[in-house]
Amino acid sequence: MLKLDLKKDTTVKLYNGIEMPILGLGTWALRGQECIQGVTWAIEMGYRLIDTAALYGNEREIGEAIEDSKISREDLFITSKVWNSDQGYDNTFKAFDKSLKKLKLSYLDLYLIHWPISGLRNDTWKALEKIYESGQARAIGVSNFTIKHIDELLSKTSITPMINQVEFSPFLYQKRLLEYCNSKNIQLEAYSPLTRGRKFNDSTLKSISLKYNKSVPQILIRWGLQHKIVEIPKSGNKQHLKDNADVFDFRINTSDMDQIDSLNDDLRIVDDPNQYK
Ligand code: NAP
Repeated sequence: MLKLDLKKDTTVKLYNGIEMPILGLGTWALRGQECIQGVTWAIEMGYRLIDTAALYGNEREIGEAIEDSKISREDLFITSKVWNSDQGYDNTFKAFDKSLKKLKLSYLDLYLIHWPISGLRNDTWKALEKIYESGQARAIGVSNFTIKHIDELLSKTSITPMINQVEFSPFLYQKRLLEYCNSKNIQLEAYSPLTRGRKFNDSTLKSISLKYNKSVPQILIRWGLQHKIVEIPKSGNKQHLKDNADVFDFRINTSDMDQIDSLNDDLRIVDDPNQYK
């Protein structure tokens, strides 16, 4: 088992002072017993950040795994998200309460708007502001927001999101968005950081991985961490979970980072948020 405590050892500080692990567990497509087992292994290995969403249909299982773990609540960092059909001011409170109940928690560490739904997203955000002010979420943020969506949000609401969770990998290296978020003190969080395995055979990554004696997934995760991006690779496999967390004992040098940066080919595995006007 890893000795690393991914909450205490390796965190980023959000602009409101909250410490967030820089590496966590993604749980999309983890369901039922596989989800309980995966989250349990992950917590035992030292993962402290667990990323879920109402959409994933696994909040109950994650709640069970958390309850059965010996980790105190303050040491965990639990994220969930309000789904598209639950958006709007009043609906968001109901969705939040449902997520809390399924997770058997009294508060979330981070609550996100899952997608920037036109006509609803700003009212949804106003509900998140209230939830944050009530202390039921220690941080609030957005997901799949482009610069345009964030600019609009900032002009119409009061609290700047602490997080923007977006698809991000060397093959979708959204440099402008990263720089924009950094300039607003919005922490970027990368989903599908492993490209769901689609680029594991990339020749540049393979040769860099040999050089550092690490696997391609470890190089992908380390690349994101060195850009100071929170990474949430998903795995339900014990060995993969272990490997994905074993990324703090090496550093990719500047010229190799530059080479990985240049791999961008605008690959999108999930939907393009620009379609939300
Ligand atoms: P990902 O993390 O890029 O890739 C997951 C895939 O890689 C799984 O098939 C997993 O299989 C495999 N894998 C993981 N570690 C591996 C390793 N060391 N070696 C070989 N294969 C490995 O994709 P993702 O699930 O799309 O993204 C991560 C998380 O981001 C999600 O789970 C979810 O929490 C979040 N997300 C958010 C949004 C959003 O709209 N906000 C959208 C998509 C995803 P095994 O399980 O077999 O290891």
